[in-house]
Amino acid sequence: MSDYRLQVIDLHKIYNNKTYAVRGISFNIKPGEIFGLIGPNGAGKTTTLRIIAGLLKPTRGKVLFEGANLVENIGIAKKNIGYLPEEAGVYSRLTGYEHLKLYAMLYEVGDVEKMIKYGAELSGLGDKLRKRAETYSKGMKRRLLLALVLMRKPALAILDEPTSGLDVYASVRVRHMIKKYVKETNSSVLLSSHNMLEVEYLCDRVAFIHQGKIFVEGTPEEIKDLYGADNLEEAFV
Ligand code: ATP
Repeated sequence: MSDYRLQVIDLHKIYNNKTYAVRGISFNIKPGEIFGLIGPNGAGKTTTLRIIAGLLKPTRGKVLFEGANLVENIGIAKKNIGYLPEEAGVYSRLTGYEHLKLYAMLYEVGDVEKMIKYGAELSGLGDKLRKRAETYSKGMKRRLLLALVLMRKPALAILDEPTSGLDVYASVRVRHMIKKYVKETNSSVLLSSHNMLEVEYLCDRVAFIHQGKIFVEGTPEEIKDLYGADNLEEAFV
């Protein structure tokens, strides 16, 4: 078996025979690693994430999950990968707890009660789980959505801009949730972000994407050294 949880090999995506969104992206993620894709709007981050999540076919290239070809076997993604799209929303009339119950039943794996308990704990929403989601702040909604993805402990969680639109405090709580999850499960996380300081704090390794290509990849330390910068933000200006 491969040492890598995920291997992305020379991924290309052309939309409608004209928009070349991803132009040969390759990277690997180990178990227990948080890997961040960072880059400007339209760089190809969401396209890359959706291909790896098994939601979009690449024009060319391979995605291997623990050595097995995910592009040819969509069941592998379904079983092992959790995906949180940027635009995900909650059901306003349902309580947080009802969300957890609904998703636990939909997943059809393992012990439903245990899953709900883990999701509830991870969300940090406590008694608020008994309230309807329409009463939640943006940050609480995001934590609930993240708990719904992570409660079944996917070996790879793909999170598209998990803190976008959140204030500093809510972002900190979401980051904390991601770190806690990885520490407890040794799962891997692949996320995208526009926030350099966030990826510097959160990620073991980072790839900067520009116009569908990886411009530079490494640990935040390696990238800072390369550009002689004090932080990642400074490295990219
Ligand atoms: P953002 O940070 O704004 O979310 P991104 O880095 O996630 O951007 P993508 O959403 O992957 O970038 O888009 C990459 C390119 O592909 C863009 O030029 C976009 O307009 C184009 N694109 C994305 N989805 C489609 C689609 N379904 N059909 C056609 N073109 C698309």
